[in-house]
Amino acid sequence: MSSTPPELHDLIILGGGAAGTAAGVYAGRGRLDTLVLDAMGGGGQMNIIDTIENYPGLTAAMPGPELARQMREQMERFGASLTFDQAESVEADDDTVSVTGAYGRYRGRALIVATGARHRELCVPGEERLQGRGVSYCATCDGAFFAGQRVALIGGGDSAVKEALFLSRIVDHVTVIHRRDRLRAEQVMQERAFEADNIDFAWSSVVTEILGEEKVAGVRLRQVDTGEQRTLDVGGVFVFVGVLPNTEFLGGLIDLDEGGFIVTDIDMRTSHPRIFAAGDVRARSVRQIATAVGDGTTAVLNIQQMLDTETPPRDLARVCEVEP
Ligand code: NAP
Repeated sequence: MSSTPPELHDLIILGGGAAGTAAGVYAGRGRLDTLVLDAMGGGGQMNIIDTIENYPGLTAAMPGPELARQMREQMERFGASLTFDQAESVEADDDTVSVTGAYGRYRGRALIVATGARHRELCVPGEERLQGRGVSYCATCDGAFFAGQRVALIGGGDSAVKEALFLSRIVDHVTVIHRRDRLRAEQVMQERAFEADNIDFAWSSVVTEILGEEKVAGVRLRQVDTGEQRTLDVGGVFVFVGVLPNTEFLGGLIDLDEGGFIVTDIDMRTSHPRIFAAGDVRARSVRQIATAVGDGTTAVLNIQQMLDTETPPRDLARVCEVEP
């Protein structure tokens, strides 16, 4: 039984977050026939950021979902369309890349993987059982449930400090629990957190258990230098201990690093010549909206060059034609 292969697009972009939409804008303007696949309708992690104030060009803080909406609108204005689907597997040969999604199959001459990353879990007793019952990974989504309560927040990176500041405006008190004696978050955010009246820090401490039966009642802490144990009574636990890449669907097709992030060269090219990667899914030391946008842009401009070499513009081909 033979089936018609799906329509061949110039470019398929997996993921409609910052990297994917930036790629979509440039691809649309480059007149590439581009399909952007995203299971959630785009925006990625921008959707769960309360306010963004470090993206160049923003003269005032902007809610993450609003920046996501504007990016998508800009992309669609230039002709790259967003399709609701989630890639389940990818195959590639010398000429094309095929994507199987939950709802369809898609084919492109090039692919950009911009599927981003998701939160990591702490993996301590009580965490899984109390998810949705006081354990949360998204302050913007769940913060309001904890109004007037004391909460614990774990982590010392940008997400942890940013979300601690967000929560401090809603809840009664936030204790930031960090495994070291200093934060790794952006300096300006650290300064704000240190100044907040209702944020304190449990330094060099790790959570060994989340306590509670039907809902969170507290956390058990261990001081890493002394081994001393103590319990903190809190009604909520927010976990921000880093991210995991969304790369499982690639099934070994391209090279990943030991953490599962996609390895690329400086042009965003992966180990397969037709597959590029951009944004948080890529092995890199910095994960910002600005760097994701840069990745998406770099990937598309290199893809455009690759596709142009394969199909010379008609006028140029005619000029160069040599009569036999
Ligand atoms: P991150 O920068 O990797 O920080 C993770 C934090 O969790 C670190 O402080 C780490 O401690 C701690 N941690 C890791 N595993 C732990 C464990 N098992 N138990 C306790 N603590 C643990 O992750 P992120 O804050 O989610 O940020 C991810 C990326 O997005 C980063 O590149 C970040 O810069 C970026 N980001 C940027 C913004 C922004 O507004 N500019 C906002 C959010 C995220 P150590 O410090 O000891 O390693």
